[in-house]
Amino acid sequence: MSVRMTFRVDGQKDGFPPVDGKDRWFPVSHRRQLVTTSFSESVSTNSQRTGGYRCALWVSVNKTGHYNFAFARAATMHGKIRSMTSAAKQTTASRLLIADLEHVVGRRNVVWKPEDLLLYEYDGSIDRAAPRVVVLPGSAQEAADCVKVANRHDAFIVPRGAGTGLSGGAIPLRDSVVIGLARLNRILDVDIANRVAIVEPGLVNLELSNRIAQHGLYYAPDPSSQKACTIGGNVAENAGGPHCLALGTTTNHVLGIEVVLADGTLLWLGGPERESTGYDLRGAFIGSEGTFGVVTKVAVRLLRIPEKIHTMLAAFTSLDAASQTVSDIIAAGIVPSALEMMDRVTIDACEPVYHPGYPADAEAVLIVELDGLTESVEEQSTLVEEVCNRNGASELRSADDPAKRADLWATRKGAIGAFGTIAPSYYLVDGVVPRTRLQQVMRQVKAVGDELGLTIGNVFHAGDGNLHPCILFNERNKDEVRKVIQAGERILEICVEHGGALSGEHGIGIEKQAYMPLVFTDDDMNAMKGLREAFLNPDHGSSDGAPKTGATPVSERFNPGKIFPGGANHGEAYGITEHSVRRAGRADEV
Ligand SMILES: Cc1cc2nc3c(=O)[nH]c(=O)nc-3n(C[C@H](O)[C@H](O)[C@H](O)COP(=O)(O)OP(=O)(O)OC[C@H]3O[C@@H](n4cnc5c(N)ncnc54)[C@H](O)[C@@H]3O)c2cc1C
Repeated sequence: MSVRMTFRVDGQKDGFPPVDGKDRWFPVSHRRQLVTTSFSESVSTNSQRTGGYRCALWVSVNKTGHYNFAFARAATMHGKIRSMTSAAKQTTASRLLIADLEHVVGRRNVVWKPEDLLLYEYDGSIDRAAPRVVVLPGSAQEAADCVKVANRHDAFIVPRGAGTGLSGGAIPLRDSVVIGLARLNRILDVDIANRVAIVEPGLVNLELSNRIAQHGLYYAPDPSSQKACTIGGNVAENAGGPHCLALGTTTNHVLGIEVVLADGTLLWLGGPERESTGYDLRGAFIGSEGTFGVVTKVAVRLLRIPEKIHTMLAAFTSLDAASQTVSDIIAAGIVPSALEMMDRVTIDACEPVYHPGYPADAEAVLIVELDGLTESVEEQSTLVEEVCNRNGASELRSADDPAKRADLWATRKGAIGAFGTIAPSYYLVDGVVPRTRLQQVMRQVKAVGDELGLTIGNVFHAGDGNLHPCILFNERNKDEVRKVIQAGERILEICVEHGGALSGEHGIGIEKQAYMPLVFTDDDMNAMKGLREAFLNPDHGSSDGAPKTGATPVSERFNPGKIFPGGANHGEAYGITEHSVRRAGRADEV
């Protein structure tokens, strides 16, 4: 297809005249590509010099012909462009959409300028796509009204929290309207007697525990990104974290959610009460990765801060010994509240940044946290110490005091940031394996890195077998990106071969959709699509009514192109498409 753009170049010097409204048609074959043009033939100056204008724009186009552009560069062949406004011929539909959204949330809460939209092109993963417009509602009702506006304009919708997701979930494919929940960040109610809080989805996870600590309470799900990620994003991804080993993931701590459905209806699934009857729609919605609707309120269960918390750190001279310790601790009947591992690459990255002073020969470090009644914690910590010593721990540290415990955790919590000192980019894979397979799988992960010449650090939730191989690379090197994607694919295959799963907590998003056939049959996936269909029921009917015959399939109204194979190509932003196509076609070989 082609798009037509109008360039306008103002106020030239060096005798170059302004160019006003030069129209061009550009063939566009990818959803995002660089278009370069030159106007040289149309420009002649008083001094008979010929010259011209060159400019380049990133163009993103969806199948219905809507497009966004972002100015990339411009230059004259002679002289300098003083200013340039490039006005892509926005469809009337886009202008009306923006105006309608502004009517709901006010002008300052609608983001549409190409340079501002760049911020919303990505999350913590490696894929990219430009949104059509971003809207920032200030209340649940405004969020619902924004959904209705998007419906009227037949536009796709992508909910967005803090954009820390690691599977491309918040990346707006297909020219979507992004509904950013950042302004909905209040704690609406804390019921101390019943230990329940009602919060808005844009609340940063750690903020909740910080605010309720004075009442001796905390919120258990603690993704390592908890200083930045939002509770709405946690609900959408069913986020886990170091302390989910003993306490379960987000779904075990959310009692109810208020959501906006596809037709703009606002309703509660579950509620603040501990028991609810009927279908567990709350449970179905949690982990749906933004494909069922927008979460606008969350009722969460709060826990009492345990009487005693004991943190231990053990260093080992081999990864095998550390992995064996993980299995042995669980086999001894102990379920620590957290059981985390870092490998040599991670230790090397962290040592110069956080100076934890681990033994020079440490190949792996384990963090084991125990909590509960004092007597039971003391008894269990003795057992854990015995297991560590039996497996040859070269150093053991432990602490009860909150500040000292925080010190033991600091390196683990900042580990991913430290990778930035080794390589400009990282790709964090998220697979799960049975704990008993950790040793073999870790060896195979290392072999994948060696074979492809990539450095892979491992910092992960070892207790529940949730691997996070962190592949370090430079995203400007396309060859390296290709290898990184290959390595990620191979690692997930290894996890599945060992009886594991595709994701422990980061979701499928764009990243893993092509690998879904590794674990799900067509029937499995059709059942999942059927559930999504039920949530997005096109016959729902509302005063604004979701269009039934628009170009946008209603079944993909929210977060299109995610989870299921064929929605998007992981790595396409780097021009890498072939791996997904190959993978998607290999379901029956596995
Ligand atoms: C350094 C680092 C460490 C991490 N550690 C962990 C970890 O230990 N455990 C873990 O589980 N994850 C971890 N993550 C991944 C990420 O932080 C989680 O997936 C988190 O839940 C995403 O929250 P967010 O607010 O950033 O959501 P976003 O990235 O903005 O969105 C994620 C998904 O949720 C959807 N979504 C967001 N808000 C809403 C809403 N209100 N309604 C409906 N859908 C919505 C989006 O459409 C998208 O599909 C880590 C990430 C980083 C960068």
